[in-house]
Amino acid sequence: MTEPRLTCRECVEFLMDYLENSLSGEVRVTFERHLTACANCVRYLESYKATTTLCKKAFEEREGDRLPPVPEELVQAILAARLKAQ
Ligand SMILES: [Zn+2]
Repeated sequence: MTEPRLTCRECVEFLMDYLENSLSGEVRVTFERHLTACANCVRYLESYKATTTLCKKAFEEREGDRLPPVPEELVQAILAARLKAQ
């Protein structure tokens, strides 16, 4: 049995579907197998997840009445700092 192999580029293309849980089981397994063997894609996935979580959080906070709106500059500054830290 030959292992289905995924290139990093394919991996990145599947990333969004993976995070939205819309990958089919087979593709998901292949994707996850690639992640276990490829540190680059894991790092990419982590930073991608962190960025989307941060954006979502900023958006939710902006929607809420209890908290003052998050200035766009602050969000950008946080994102820039995260990128630099890697
Ligand atoms: Zn990779």
